[in-house]
Amino acid sequence: MRLFHPARLLILLAASILAVACNGATETPAPLLPSSPAPLPPSSTAPLRPSSTALLPPLSPTAPLLPSSTAIPCDSTTGYCIQAGHFLLERPIALPGTITIDPTYPYGSTQNGTRQPHHGVEFYDASGTPVLAAADGFVIVAGDDKTTNFSPWPNFYGNLIVLEHHLPGISQPLFTLYGHLSKIEAQTGQNVRAGEEIGEVGASGSATGSHLHFEVRLGENDYDSNRNPVLWLKPLSGEDGNPFGLIVGRFVDDQGNPLYYPSLNIQYFPDRSGPQAAAYAVETYAPEKQPVRADDQWQENFALGDLPAGQYRISFIWENVLYERWIEAQPGKVTLVTFIIK
Ligand SMILES: [Zn+2]
Repeated sequence: MRLFHPARLLILLAASILAVACNGATETPAPLLPSSPAPLPPSSTAPLRPSSTALLPPLSPTAPLLPSSTAIPCDSTTGYCIQAGHFLLERPIALPGTITIDPTYPYGSTQNGTRQPHHGVEFYDASGTPVLAAADGFVIVAGDDKTTNFSPWPNFYGNLIVLEHHLPGISQPLFTLYGHLSKIEAQTGQNVRAGEEIGEVGASGSATGSHLHFEVRLGENDYDSNRNPVLWLKPLSGEDGNPFGLIVGRFVDDQGNPLYYPSLNIQYFPDRSGPQAAAYAVETYAPEKQPVRADDQWQENFALGDLPAGQYRISFIWENVLYERWIEAQPGKVTLVTFIIK
């Protein structure tokens, strides 16, 4: 059964173009939309309409501070934009440890409202796994947070290390934070090189099990200066040796205010006419008391990294209307996509 008639698609496309005009977007020309075939029917697991709406502050109109995008004309509100990333950090864990980011509690997630919006990402590794400096830098914190807080709560990170980095092309200092360590092997004031062992994974502080909490802060070593580590870590590579890509998205109302959506449906198709190879349920950054921060350049409120190159279908239902967009991920690149919800 084809639930998504081509005529309906044309109406939606026309509405999208109108929406761009109404918002005064000046980005032209619009990209070519991915060519036919007709979109797949919505999945039976399409998410329900979310119960809450925007509480996050409006998007900043300020100019990007970070490296600019490639000069490809594009319009992320009707299609997508392929841009260069600022992948300047190495993984803080090496093989044979788990070097992939835990997908169940990603940056900005509340894990279905049960936890604080996550200011970092988790690497689930055994206690004692070496923790490595993500870039050249120097140690500004090597201790615990029993008496000095690095979050609103004491003994939150447990044994932690904070490194300060001055990275090429980035005008502000960038900080990486390594939490819940079982062992600290660096001293305050010490210079470190990327990949140098600085401690070991543990479960100190507020941790339910052994893992590395990895956090990125830009400008200030401050709990509210966090950024999504996925936007900074060099992507892993696939079996073909090519680096993976990254999808960065804005899910906003027509005033540009971020909206919350608990489970965007993102499906991967190596070949658009072939079967789905993977599916992801992506939560937008949660609108809670301690909201996480968006990238200065992208102003995103969702992101999904380490994606093999290919076609991706993003779909969701909002007020009984199915939205969907086909986009592409390219090796080592950022795909920017914007959904403006009326
Ligand atoms: Zn964490």
